[in-house]
Amino acid sequence: KTDGHISGSIRVLALANQKGGVGKTTTAINLGTALAAIGERVLIIDLDPQGNASTGLGVDRQSRKISTYDVMVGTAKLEDALLETSVPGLAVAPSTLDLLGVELEIASSKDRVRRLSKAIDKLGRDIQPNGFTYVLIDCPPSLNLLTINALTAANAVLVPLQCEFFALEGLSQLLKTVEQVRASLNPGLGIHGIVLTMFDPRNNLSTQVVADVREFMGPKVYDTIIPRNVRVSEAPSHGKPVLLYDLKCAGSQAYLKLASEIIQRERVLRAA
Ligand code: ADP
Ligand code: MG
Repeated sequence: KTDGHISGSIRVLALANQKGGVGKTTTAINLGTALAAIGERVLIIDLDPQGNASTGLGVDRQSRKISTYDVMVGTAKLEDALLETSVPGLAVAPSTLDLLGVELEIASSKDRVRRLSKAIDKLGRDIQPNGFTYVLIDCPPSLNLLTINALTAANAVLVPLQCEFFALEGLSQLLKTVEQVRASLNPGLGIHGIVLTMFDPRNNLSTQVVADVREFMGPKVYDTIIPRNVRVSEAPSHGKPVLLYDLKCAGSQAYLKLASEIIQRERVLRAA
C-alpha cells in the first residue's frame, strides 16, 4: 500500500497547529515518552527545521548524520535516520536546518506531498513485526509542504491548543486544511483529538478558554488537560523529557494520563 494507509498496527499521528509555541514539540516529546513508558514502541519524526524535538530528546547536532531532510529529498531511508533516545522504546528521526530548503528542492517532483508517507510505509514493511506501534510527527508552525506531507502520512491529527485568548484563532484554517488533505490525498485522515496545553487554574481566562474550546469542538477535546508547569519547560534544556526529569510533577502526570486516554480512544476506534 502506498496511499498513506499504514498496514498493520502502526498508528501515525501528526501533531499540527500552524501557530508556534502552542506545545506541539513538548507534546511530541512527552506523549512519546509516556506511550513508551506504558509499553508502546514509539518513533518521533522531527519535521521542524528548528529541531527542538531532537534537542529536547538529547540528540546533539553532531549526531544528526542522517536526518529527516535526507529522507524527504530521498537520499536516505527513514530507517537509516533513526536514533534511539535515553527513553527505552523511544526513537527519533532528527531534523536539521537543511529541512528549511526541502520545499524548493522537491517542489517540482510529482510525489512531493507523499515523500513522508512513502518513507513511513517502507519503514513499516522493512522492520515489522518488531517495529513501531506509534509514530508521532512533530510538524513545523506552518501549513507548508512539510505539514502537508505529515497530514498525508498520518492516520489522524493531534492538535495542541494553548489555553490563551487566541486559542481558537487559526483552528478553522487548520481544520480546513485537514479537510482538503482528506478529500484529495488521504481519505482515512481524521482528527484524533485536541489537547489543551499550558492550563493555569489561577487564571480565569484559561478556564474560559477550556469551556469555549469544549463547546466548539465537543468530544474531540481530550479529557486530559496539560497544566502550565515549570518542570515541563526546564526539561528540554537538560535534553530530557519531563518524565525523566521529574516524574512526580504535574506535567509528567498529565502526559501519562494523556497517553492512556489516547490508547483508550484507539481501542474504541478499533472496536468500531
Ligand atoms: P511548539 O512546538 O508548538 O512551537 P513548544 O512545545 O516548543 O511549542 O512550546 C513552546 C514553549 O512553551 C516552550 O518553551 C515550552 O518549553 C513551553 N511549554 C510547553 N508546554 C508547557 C507546559 N505545559 N508548561 C510550561 N511550559 C510549557
Ligand atoms: Mg515545535
